[in-house]
Amino acid sequence: MDPSPAAADQPKPSPSWAIVIHGGAGGDPAKYDNARIEKKKLGLKRALQAGCDALSAGESSIDTVEKVIRILEDDAAFNAGRGAVLTDEGRAELDASIMNGRTLACGGVAGVTRVKNPISLARRVMTETRHVLLAGEGADEFAEEQGLPIVDPSYFLSQAARRKKAEENDGNASQIGTVGCVVLDSAGNLAAGTSTGGTSKKLPGRVGDSPIIGAGTYASNDTCAVSGTGTGEEYIRHSVAYDIAAQMRYAGQTLESAVTEIMQDRLEPGVGGVIAVSSSGAIVMQHNTPGMSCGAADSQGRFETHLFLEAGGAPDPGSGVGNASATVRAELTRLIQQQARDWNAGDIDAFMKPYWKSDELTFSSGGNVTRGFDATLARYKQRYPTTDAMGKLTFNDFEFLSLDNSAMQVLGVWQLDRRADPIGGRFTLILRRFPEGEGWKIVHDHTSAWDQDSEDQ
Ligand code: ASP
Repeated sequence: MDPSPAAADQPKPSPSWAIVIHGGAGGDPAKYDNARIEKKKLGLKRALQAGCDALSAGESSIDTVEKVIRILEDDAAFNAGRGAVLTDEGRAELDASIMNGRTLACGGVAGVTRVKNPISLARRVMTETRHVLLAGEGADEFAEEQGLPIVDPSYFLSQAARRKKAEENDGNASQIGTVGCVVLDSAGNLAAGTSTGGTSKKLPGRVGDSPIIGAGTYASNDTCAVSGTGTGEEYIRHSVAYDIAAQMRYAGQTLESAVTEIMQDRLEPGVGGVIAVSSSGAIVMQHNTPGMSCGAADSQGRFETHLFLEAGGAPDPGSGVGNASATVRAELTRLIQQQARDWNAGDIDAFMKPYWKSDELTFSSGGNVTRGFDATLARYKQRYPTTDAMGKLTFNDFEFLSLDNSAMQVLGVWQLDRRADPIGGRFTLILRRFPEGEGWKIVHDHTSAWDQDSEDQ
């Protein structure tokens, strides 16, 4: 039967199940050799297919997460289980966690050295103990007690030696393939899991975000399921996985905007990536590193794998015109207020720090345009030779406009209190966000005084 026009207009129904996996964020896939690309792609496809088979057969999200992560752990192409990286003492210490979004039951293991599949051990912690996290020797003993497959350290080491070489070759020593899986099953239940060898050359005993619920893994049926990969310390500091769920729960954000805010605005570039699925089956994969192995599939026939995503999976920059996110507003307010503090400490060099160090910088004031960082600095120093001349600067009444994902316009009012002649006026700043940790820089500054006849700033 042909659908009626009304039915054809209806939005696509949500998928009844959806699955997303990752095989780690970090290195630049452009630098991988073909053999490595093929191994990763094949590994992702195999694991994703197994997940699809399980979900279409009606398996639960928590069973599917464990099953898929076990496959990735057994695959030496990824930094988990067999392919785990080593501590600086040459030992594999594995971390993993799993969470059931229906019940909030969760379990994690940290620093285990003998268990073949840390994700299954994490699940046993969840189901067979009253605890959430077991670490080190106690966790290894618990694995033996539970009768889980135990392996000799050489199971990890021989692979690791090969892997170490690969890291040296492409210069990507820290992140080469933690694994994660998030699932919405056809009963509407979410689950998430993550498993890793951690960061290579880590200190013995170092624990990352992957076994920490709320940092590397989180799932709650009212919002989403999340698994992260990247510099674990940053994921712990920012409670990344929980923060995404909290943005949805308390601030009414969509999954995509919650992920975009933390991945693109809050975490420094180069930190890592996340995969997430919402309770309605929305899928989000984003990274702020050059690459992230990942894949997604759902009950409507979606099936895809990637070694990186265009623009790190962030929404189209063109759609970013308009309101600036709270994070960006806060970041730029801090930057501008720090300038005022530096000015009031008499330090013009520090005040100039957020300006773009380029001949392309433009500074427009009193009808004159000064070009270039050096000329702008010289102009300030000439106009304000003494701290008395500098007076006390305040900035107020900021208005923000996002021009795209990496450009902002800020309007505001400046006031210079000086005993002799207080002055003030308006300013318009254009800032761009530069990659490689440089952050926001002022590329254009237009300043005007209330009284154009008086001295401009
Ligand atoms: N997040 C992991 C850790 O810090 C590493 C990674 O994802 O590459 O242990």
